[in-house]
Amino acid sequence: PVAQTAPPGAASGDVAARAAVGFHAGYGEPPAGRWAAPGRANLIGEHTDYNDGFVLPFALTLRTVVAAAPQPGERWTVRSELSAEAVEFGADEVDEPGRVTGWAAYVAGVVWALREAGYDVPGARLAIASDVPVGSGLSSSAAIEAAVLAALVDLGGLDLPAEKQPRLAQRAENAYVGAPTGIMDQSAAIRCREGHALFLDCRTEAVEHIPFDLDAAGLAVLVIDSRAPHRHADGEYASRRAACERAASLLGVPALRDVPVADLDAALARLDDDEIRRRVRHVVTEDQRVLDTVDLLRAGRVREIGPLLTASHASMRDDFEITVPEIDTAVEAALAAGALGARMTGGGFGGCVLALVDADHADTVARAVTHAYADRNFPTPTHVTVLPAPGATRLA
Ligand code: ADP
Ligand code: MG
Repeated sequence: PVAQTAPPGAASGDVAARAAVGFHAGYGEPPAGRWAAPGRANLIGEHTDYNDGFVLPFALTLRTVVAAAPQPGERWTVRSELSAEAVEFGADEVDEPGRVTGWAAYVAGVVWALREAGYDVPGARLAIASDVPVGSGLSSSAAIEAAVLAALVDLGGLDLPAEKQPRLAQRAENAYVGAPTGIMDQSAAIRCREGHALFLDCRTEAVEHIPFDLDAAGLAVLVIDSRAPHRHADGEYASRRAACERAASLLGVPALRDVPVADLDAALARLDDDEIRRRVRHVVTEDQRVLDTVDLLRAGRVREIGPLLTASHASMRDDFEITVPEIDTAVEAALAAGALGARMTGGGFGGCVLALVDADHADTVARAVTHAYADRNFPTPTHVTVLPAPGATRLA
């Protein structure tokens, strides 16, 4: 067992029990059921999603739980551990994106997206508890969407199979909350399987469950929250995206996914701007690293993915330029302390680092990162060891 520091913002105690207790305290009766959905980390494949490429996320053991029960009429009441106030809304507010704001918009957005798709959504009371740190890049947003969606689908007996749920949850976040995100987070929160990573083709949305058995290999993944403030993340994201789109159009392909890695040098020779060349090199080589990682995992060679993770980090740092000093420090310290591979996970400019480590070495690596942070006067990082967990599910 590895000493864990609690994720920031997490209350103590079992999250499923907290959701039930929160429901009872808020509504004076027990819930009809509880539904859970996980946070996620992307094992590899960063900024490849909007280039129609490949990603390989896995679900975390950290999760969000929604306790829920039906209530009459088209009314929804939501409570979260993170807020003292219950938020209540009816069909009128839901049907107009923007009327419900703040955290409850993630819930109203799901109700809206379901209604917009023609589903008869049952009125409900909901109480939410979560172990997924908010705003750390582990996708607490997709976790809350997926858990609420699972609850409403079950309570209403709605005919909405799991493979169709990610699009709907994404629509809630894009069109109701107003956050432009790809399909990865919701796919991971809904479709992941225990002991597997989710190989997702962002062009076709085809998924494949790839064995990622850390236990059998005696390995662990350490997720380190860099605690770096997200510096200009929105503007930087938009500029990376624009550069990729420009490069694809200069190269005459629909998306950078269509540049095979074997043709990379020829493609780069056709671009005269060094920055654009580096952006393209990141995306094209990153897609290939995802494919190589999938091949190794399929062959059960989990240890050997380490260098691919580390190469992904170097590419994000040097070519895509989306890392920050805290993140690079955590990666370097983890590698120096014996991690098999380490990289930033998520969109960048902050967020988390994941390190692949021998299970009995996780403590040593975590301590090394903490020391490296102290040397540089960065805030103390938090960490947690994770295993590939299942996607959204109803709890017994
Ligand atoms: P991330 O998905 O990386 O954690 P986001 O900014 O995309 O960060 O989503 C975080 C937002 O999602 C929070 O600010 C809050 O509005 C909402 N949210 C996530 N989890 C919860 C929760 N348990 N209770 C209430 N709101 C939540
Ligand atoms: Mg999010």
